[in-house]
Amino acid sequence: MSDDDPKLSRVVLKLSGEALMGKTGYGIDHEILNRVASEISEAGNCGVQIAVVLGGGNICRGVSLNADGMDRVTGDIMGMLATTINCLAMSDALRRMDVPNRVLTAGEMKKAAETYYRDRALEHLDNGEILLLAGGTGSPFFTTDTAAALRAAEIGADRLFKATKVDGLYNADPVHDPNARFLEKLGYDEVLGNRLDVMDATAVSLCRDNDIPIVVFNMTKPGNILKALKGARIGSMIGEEGDD
Ligand code: UDP
Repeated sequence: MSDDDPKLSRVVLKLSGEALMGKTGYGIDHEILNRVASEISEAGNCGVQIAVVLGGGNICRGVSLNADGMDRVTGDIMGMLATTINCLAMSDALRRMDVPNRVLTAGEMKKAAETYYRDRALEHLDNGEILLLAGGTGSPFFTTDTAAALRAAEIGADRLFKATKVDGLYNADPVHDPNARFLEKLGYDEVLGNRLDVMDATAVSLCRDNDIPIVVFNMTKPGNILKALKGARIGSMIGEEGDD
């Protein structure tokens, strides 16, 4: 078994908004933004086509706004706009590094970016651009995890990378249980059946139905995004039982 998987040609990277937030508690930490942009750029230079789906939780989430009394749909639209803010910031960071990239939004927003449709996304990827996919699915009541799974299925991605703050999945909470075992590989149904809190169930089942393996890895360790996108064995892989 080799350490790397040379077959990766097109991938989706899901970055939560919180990933860009650093220790500030809100908004964007520019040091982290630049570090992430440079790892994405390096991975792109290795030949893998990359579509990044960014979340918006560092700015706002519909569920939280709703808990404070706001209408849910309005809150979700605000959340989707937040993902666009993050994509524009990432696009700017990549542009400053001379990395060709393109923001595509799920809903129309002509002065900020092009509107997403599948063939346009593929065209830009084939031209060597990094895609930054904004606005989630374009519909309220969904998450950017589900958007990442949806876009991965649409563009025929080999793998969906879910960047988190933890190394991967365990059979128990490693903070509270010293016997917790790291799970290098597990099946989609194991994740769904045990309600493992890694991605929402819609995202996991969409990946299962379209046979897209999900890699959950720790993006807070410098170098890990690059390693993951290059196909190194890192984190936990969710796939069909017995898949390699
Ligand atoms: N959102 C939405 N539809 C989508 C994706 C996102 O309504 O398809 C809204 C929702 O309010 C969500 C917010 O945008 O809370 C930010 O997305 P998410 O919570 O997935 O961001 P993350 O947690 O990854 O930063």
